[in-house]
Amino acid sequence: MRTSDPVREEGRMPMEWRRDAACRNQDPELFFPIGTGDASGLQVKAAKAVCHRCPVIASCLAWATANGPVAGIWGGTTEGERASVRRRRLGLAATAPAGA
Ligand code: SF4
Repeated sequence: MRTSDPVREEGRMPMEWRRDAACRNQDPELFFPIGTGDASGLQVKAAKAVCHRCPVIASCLAWATANGPVAGIWGGTTEGERASVRRRRLGLAATAPAGA
């Protein structure tokens, strides 16, 4: 089992919002899918379902976006989805790697 998760992991910005996180009592592994197959896709979907009923989804997403590349599902997004947002903000969408 991983020792870090969106609720417990300390970041570079305050994370006081995490005490209200919907994932607080979830298995942290759910938010860190491995691979790209069907099982991973189902795991991403399940993690996002938790996020979409989370009262602090906006704070979580803001934290993950502000703190650069962080692994796992945060604020209802995958690492690749957050990277795409960052690239669009920087005007680098045309250089995005395939599958990101
Ligand atoms: S948005 Fe998702 S990952 Fe973030 S605190 Fe809420 S449930 Fe956890």
